[in-house]
Amino acid sequence: MISENLHRVEEHITAACNKSGRKREEVTLIAVSKTKPVEMLKEAYQLGCRDFGENKVQELTEKYEQLPKDIRWHMIGHLQRNKVKYIVDKVYMIHSVDSFRLAEEISKEAIKKNVTVSILVEVNVAMEESKFGTTAENAAHLVEEISKLPNIVIKGLMTIAPYVENSEENRLYFAKLKQIYVDIIHKNIDNVFMEELSMGMTGDYEVAIEEGATYIRVGTGIFGERQYTTV
Ligand SMILES: *Cc1c(COP(=O)(O)O)cnc(C)c1O
Repeated sequence: MISENLHRVEEHITAACNKSGRKREEVTLIAVSKTKPVEMLKEAYQLGCRDFGENKVQELTEKYEQLPKDIRWHMIGHLQRNKVKYIVDKVYMIHSVDSFRLAEEISKEAIKKNVTVSILVEVNVAMEESKFGTTAENAAHLVEEISKLPNIVIKGLMTIAPYVENSEENRLYFAKLKQIYVDIIHKNIDNVFMEELSMGMTGDYEVAIEEGATYIRVGTGIFGERQYTTV
């Protein structure tokens, strides 16, 4: 199943790149493996996946221990400050930095472990109350503040678009994130390397690619529906 799913996603990525005149190498597919067992991640790994996304610290660290070390782990979920210490030396990138206090904690723990952590600033472009992320208006300011912290490097922006039936409805949010990104590039802030736009999930990654995504985060489209056990 994973093999067929990956092929289909790959075809759609290529089509979206062709349609928008982009190169396939400009887009990295993150296999979002939250809630899925290690066996499924191993299968995806054998099929060539090296970028995996998780949204819970404990799940990420458990899977990290059991899987090959050349995997790039992406923390994509809301991160509590008291859990930063468990992942700073394990993640390739933290996509969900939405406050200065969280960034300070990442910086502090990164210094202790003698690593530099790549992060993205999460922006709630659609201004959904249920979602984390800084506002579009505050994004540049937050980037500038975080850029002064040691052992942390800002690589770009991330957003989680609303759940919609028709992915076209999210196009304006992706375009808006891209615009904020371009505005920040023009500010030439030291220690800020705007290279990545993490946007697009199973329902809307093609539109996100057309609007400039460099990371797409696909879970259901690769691993199938998630089952959340209710306690
Ligand atoms: C779960 C999750 C995804 C993947 O969602 P799918 O719709 O299953 O592709 C992407 N991004 C974030 C932040 C998530 O939490």
